[in-house]
Amino acid sequence: MNSKIPDELVERAYQGKSTKEDALLLLEVPPFELFRFADELRALAVGDTVTYVVNRNINFTSRCVGTCGFCAFRDDNGYLLSLEEIMAKVREAKQAKATEVCIQGGLLPDVGLDFYLGIVEAVKAEFPEMHIHAFSPMEVYHASRISGIKVNEALSKLKRSGLDTMPGTAAEILSDRVRKIICPSKLRTAEWVEVVRQAHSAGIPTTATMMYGHVETPEERIEHILTIREIQKETGGITEFVPLPFMPYNNPIGEKMIREGKYTTPGLNDLKVYSISRILLHGHVDNIQASWVKLGKKLAQFALHCGANDLGGTLMEESISRLAGASNGESITVEELEWMIHGAGRIPKERTTLYRGVHELASRNNRRIAGCGASE
Ligand code: SF4
Repeated sequence: MNSKIPDELVERAYQGKSTKEDALLLLEVPPFELFRFADELRALAVGDTVTYVVNRNINFTSRCVGTCGFCAFRDDNGYLLSLEEIMAKVREAKQAKATEVCIQGGLLPDVGLDFYLGIVEAVKAEFPEMHIHAFSPMEVYHASRISGIKVNEALSKLKRSGLDTMPGTAAEILSDRVRKIICPSKLRTAEWVEVVRQAHSAGIPTTATMMYGHVETPEERIEHILTIREIQKETGGITEFVPLPFMPYNNPIGEKMIREGKYTTPGLNDLKVYSISRILLHGHVDNIQASWVKLGKKLAQFALHCGANDLGGTLMEESISRLAGASNGESITVEELEWMIHGAGRIPKERTTLYRGVHELASRNNRRIAGCGASE
């Protein structure tokens, strides 16, 4: 069936044992053969259901002491929302039937864990059923350092206060060579992995992301995905993998690329990243999310035939990608998401953050998450 793809490579993929060499070889096969193979594995893992979550992004501050060269969001004279302003946004989210609030912000100087705990406790006090998906591994690391406590202690306190899950952002590319160029003051690869592992052992599942399309090599992308697979084999706490193409506008890394005549990744390459992600993570991470904000609605729809099975959230407001040049909108309605999914020949289904009860076939990782003590 996969004529240009060697049988032994197909066999390893089915067993969840694809290698770096397999992935490099797959990048050389005709793209539509690669897409078809990834689609076959998607069907096996999760069937024809395509999910989305009704959620709201809340970025509580654009001020940040970070120095990431790819960032168009940080603003030294930027805003800082008060707790009351954050809660007003949570109330709007509730009114719009959101089941999740995704809360992240810049790194504030001299602001320790109490600030983060205060947000979580305020949301849970008013809306105990609202799923709080908040604080990147970098934010948790930063808050722990400022408060002078260990990361695992900070995670336990966040969990006790009501934090449900964490976004696996700040991963960028998990290579210290790349991180030195694009985000030298951010936590290093081993530190990111350690925060995520500790979150899982504290009963806080995470997503996992990869921001690609800047200075990394194809090998470094593949190694990143394999690192995610290793974490998942150990903890089972990763709910989804989200490849995110780099937006090269209004930030120093992108401006340098543009001066050199390089722009955003070609759509065909984005689709290959989705396919390779599905193949390398098969049997480990069932959910591969296509970001309509980054890819645009039409390419995200096409990605559903290249290994992806989730379209992410309705968001209600999005500023990080928009400021870096994304022009695909800040929010999307349930009706439009379902229209896109039907248009791709798939079955739409609203999900919870943890994908509980969505897939009849897969759910391997969901069972593991239940085992690590997470609750919705
Ligand atoms: S990416 Fe995040 S940590 Fe880095 S500068 Fe921007 S807001 Fe700060």
